Amino acid sequence: MFQTNTSSSKTSRRDWLKALSLGGAAAMLPSCQKPAAKLAGAPAKSDRVRGIVFMVSDGMSPGVLTMAQAFSQQIRQRGTHWWDLINQRSSARGLMDNASANSLVTDSAAASTAWGGGQRVKNGMINVSVDGKEITPIAAILKKKDVRIGLVTTASVTHATPAGFAASVKERSNENSVAQQYLNRVDVILGGGSQFFDPKKRSDRADLFEEFGSAGYQVVKNRQELLDAKNEKLLGTFSPNYIPYTIDHEQSPELQAQVPLLAEMAEAALSRFLSSGKPFLLQVEGARVDHAAHLNDIGALLREQLAFDDAVGKVLELCAAHSDILIVVTSDHGNANPGLNGIGPSYGESNRCFETIARMKQSHEMLFARWRQNPQQDINALIKDSLGFTLQPDEAHCLEAVLTSKPIVEWNDLLENPEGQLGQFAGNHTGVGWTGTTHTSDPTIVTATGPQAERFSGMVVNTDVNLHLQELLG
Ligand SMILES: [Zn+2]
Repeated sequence: MFQTNTSSSKTSRRDWLKALSLGGAAAMLPSCQKPAAKLAGAPAKSDRVRGIVFMVSDGMSPGVLTMAQAFSQQIRQRGTHWWDLINQRSSARGLMDNASANSLVTDSAAASTAWGGGQRVKNGMINVSVDGKEITPIAAILKKKDVRIGLVTTASVTHATPAGFAASVKERSNENSVAQQYLNRVDVILGGGSQFFDPKKRSDRADLFEEFGSAGYQVVKNRQELLDAKNEKLLGTFSPNYIPYTIDHEQSPELQAQVPLLAEMAEAALSRFLSSGKPFLLQVEGARVDHAAHLNDIGALLREQLAFDDAVGKVLELCAAHSDILIVVTSDHGNANPGLNGIGPSYGESNRCFETIARMKQSHEMLFARWRQNPQQDINALIKDSLGFTLQPDEAHCLEAVLTSKPIVEWNDLLENPEGQLGQFAGNHTGVGWTGTTHTSDPTIVTATGPQAERFSGMVVNTDVNLHLQELLG
């Protein structure tokens, strides 16, 4: 499925770098990394890129794409936009190599730094090099060239993946600093994380809502305010930390009134950039696919992936009338590699098992929170109410033990925790298994459409993304 579109150009690596006219960025390119694309002179006029929408399903292992396609067919009788995009002849299809400087397995901070800063760094750092030097993020470089910058996410807006495009911090947890660095550098900021702008929550008591407001940003705090907003510059934070999981959002009218969908946030940002006529770089992140994978929570994960896919559909729709917008859809790393297993004779039970996922009504995050409110309650009644199935007596006993930090028998160290145990017990019903509860080294899927999309064909090294973004917009 993931064919490599080989370029007919025989331009040498030296010519390619010369064509880039990016001395600094070229010097950063490790000698072992060949550029993913080859340029032969200036791009044709029709290949001009005015804007780039870079879409990230964070922590999406390759198997998620297949399961999301099947899940979408099952619950809404249609496939996914990403699946269709891969199937279009005009799309570029590739795989991304996402290692970090210190590990074959990257975290989001190092992965986004590779895209936003052009270098591989140690996990945990955002735009700080292995030798401790600050790297200028792409937003700061492009801002000087009058390029509009947007960051849209379901994590806190200051979380690692958006921050990799627009901030530099030694520790990714320093979200207070990330928030300050966005001022006048990022034009549209939408997601969670109000606590990092709120004087009552920040340790330094700085009122960033006030500072952004004085700098011309319209500050919005709920869905309706976002839909009504008129300003070009926008700061929208809709929850103190992360945006709630889609599976929980779908069950709560209060959350639906407070928190916009990822597709609505993407539309708010993109429609501003499209109508401005100016060049732009917009990152749209479905962040909680990653969180659901860490929790081995297939119900939350697939609904999160469909919410991301709705955003992909909205972006494709809005850009359909614009021939100068490049859209890239990818992920930053795998996570726990969920996959549907063959169950029963001739694997004939797999489909029936997979169909049980649609009956899940609550995230494992919410389920564990409810259990912690009253640890004396019957765990099986809670699971039946949230996930639609019942544990075997020994499974229920094991889950209660691990939830209260009592020893259990588990041979995979990564699964010796409540999330790993519940993930496995759920898997006995859904047929879905997990490798662990952490990120994995698998290459991620990348698909691109629009002018210059072929740059994202074949095997793409994550640091090459930075060269492409800089050259196309700088
Ligand atoms: Zn990530």
